[in-house]
Formats: sequence, structure tokens, C-alpha cells
Amino acid sequence: MNIPTEPIGSLPRSKKLQEAMEGFAQGQVTAETLDEFFDEAVSETIEKFESTGSAIITDGEQTKPSFATYPLAGLTNLAPDGVVIPFEDGHERQLPRLTGGPFKYGEFAGSYLPRAKRFAEKPLKQAVISASAMSLLYPADELDEYTRESFIADLVDQAVEDIKSCFENGAETVQIDFTEGRLSLKLDPSKALLRQFVDLNNQVLSHFSSEEKSRIGVHTCPGGDQDSTHSADVDYTDLIPTLMELDVGKFYFQMASEAHPDRALTQIAENLKPGQRAFIGVINVIDEVVETAETVRERVLNAAKFIPVEQLGTTDDCGFSPFSDDIATSREIAFAKIKARVDGTRLAEDVLDFGRTANA
Ligand SMILES: [Zn+2]
Repeated sequence: MNIPTEPIGSLPRSKKLQEAMEGFAQGQVTAETLDEFFDEAVSETIEKFESTGSAIITDGEQTKPSFATYPLAGLTNLAPDGVVIPFEDGHERQLPRLTGGPFKYGEFAGSYLPRAKRFAEKPLKQAVISASAMSLLYPADELDEYTRESFIADLVDQAVEDIKSCFENGAETVQIDFTEGRLSLKLDPSKALLRQFVDLNNQVLSHFSSEEKSRIGVHTCPGGDQDSTHSADVDYTDLIPTLMELDVGKFYFQMASEAHPDRALTQIAENLKPGQRAFIGVINVIDEVVETAETVRERVLNAAKFIPVEQLGTTDDCGFSPFSDDIATSREIAFAKIKARVDGTRLAEDVLDFGRTANA
């Protein structure tokens, strides 16, 4: 039996790459030189990724400024004072605020794939930011010459293009990052905001065929930046049923760091539709301790008590560095954790296969 295992996406950037990006931002490094640094970072990341045995890989988001802000590259209709996301350890991340329309992405996620494909032998997965996260750019007070309604129409169009760009550039799987799902329950316990987010993302998904949707997934987590979270204190079971109304073929659930995984796993099993697969997080990305393959195996076997093995997959709880300047975890630890996920998932397959043979 095969239990598919997939990464979420990002890996820490090397110090050398970070300095080059910083130098470019300050005008000390040319675009041509930065491009050489990008090639080196992506090629080295993919080589290490493939050596973990992972059947599907990413470019580690080495050249993405952050999982959420890449579409904003070069846009001039933004001000820096948008929505603030507070993390548990006291640090914050702030989104920009839209100052006028029309809203067009400055960069599509598919643009990262050609570079990755030059170095990769294995199939590539590409993450995109959700339309719901981008909807937070629109200010609380309606803009004079660009209504919220016009903004949403433009946003849906651009989010569809973003996913299409990934398929057109050869992505095997496209993952929608939906970290604001759990966060929305903190901002609005009535779930109205979550409802709005899910409906908006489903509007985007309605533009894809069933075959395409089977290759689209959604990632949920309580945030993972500088080894801290923004919404781990929100009860997971308040999120899962509404989240799973998203019309996708795959879900990627943070689970290894969850205090009560069994309650969440029960709910996932109840809401999983035929043909869908639940990838369960078996690697805690905010814990510096590298899991052993045996620890991973036990986490997979526990998930298999709830979720039919035919619909089970494994993943990391989150990306290792969703923001390019996050170096809380070293690259060595990140790759060791990925290898533990791959090896531990294989060990669990062996146990489950043996169980089937013994029962036959
Ligand atoms: Zn995440």
C-alpha cells in the first residue's frame, strides 16, 4: 500500500542568499547577480530535497519573498499599514493596504516553476496564496473609486490565473495556503468571516475541472513564523467542518503540534468525501528536535485508526520558513525532518501492509 507524502513548501534560505536579497533591495546587488544566487539556492535545495527520498518536491520557495506577499511584487497601489497579524511570542507581521484599483497580481506563482524544473527530476508541487488572504488587503472603509465588489471580482480572476499559471508551468500539485482560516475564528468567533473566506475560495475553485481540482489542495495551520503560531489556541474542531467544505481533492492538516489530535482526526474522517485525501502533519516544524522515523510511524498509525488508509497521506505541519527572513530553523534540521517524514511514512506502510496480510 502506498501512503503519499508531500511537503508544504518553504525551506529556510541560506545566509548567503539572504544577504544577496538584502543587497538587491538596497541597490548593491544587480538583478543579474541575484539571479545567479537564485539558481544556486534552488539547485542546491532541490538536490537536497530529492536526496530525502521525497517523491514530490518544491523549490523550497527560495526566491519567494513570502508565502503571502509574492503577488504584490512591484505593485504601486499599496500602503504599508494594513492588517496586523500578532504571533504568540509577541512579534507581528503586517500586510499592506490597498489604496486603489484595479487589483492585479504583480507575480504569479507559476513563474517560480521554470527555474525549479531546470534542476528537478521529481514532480514539483507549487503553493499559492488563497484569495481569502489577499481579500484582507482591501481597507475597512470602502475606497471611493474602487468598490469592494469590483475588488472581489478582480481578485477571483487573479487567483484563478495564479493557479492556472502553476498547472501551465508543469506543477503536479497546487496547494492553496489558507493559514488565515484558523486565525479568522480568533478575529470572529461567530464564524461569519470563515464562512466568507470559504465561499470566496470556492468561487475561485469553481473555475477548475474535476480533474484539476483533484490536483488542488488546501493547507491549514495555526501559523508558523519564527517558531511561533498565531492561532494554535483556537479549537481546531471549530474550524475543520467548514474548512472541509472547500471543493478540493486534498487537505494538508497541521497535526503533529496539536494537543488533542484524536478529536481533530475524528472530525476529518467524518467530513472527508469520497475521492478526497487528507494529508496529516507528522512533523512539528516549530520544534527544533528532529523526529525519529519511529515517532513519525506512530503518528501515521494513529491517523490510520481514524482515516481510511486509501484516503490518507502525510505532510509537514507547515512550511519551514513561510517568510524569507525566517531562519529560526536551520536548513540541516529542516531536511532531516523531511527525511524522517519520508522514512517514517514508509515504516507505517510496512506495518499496515503486514496487518492486512495477517488479517487475510
Ligand atoms: Zn502553514
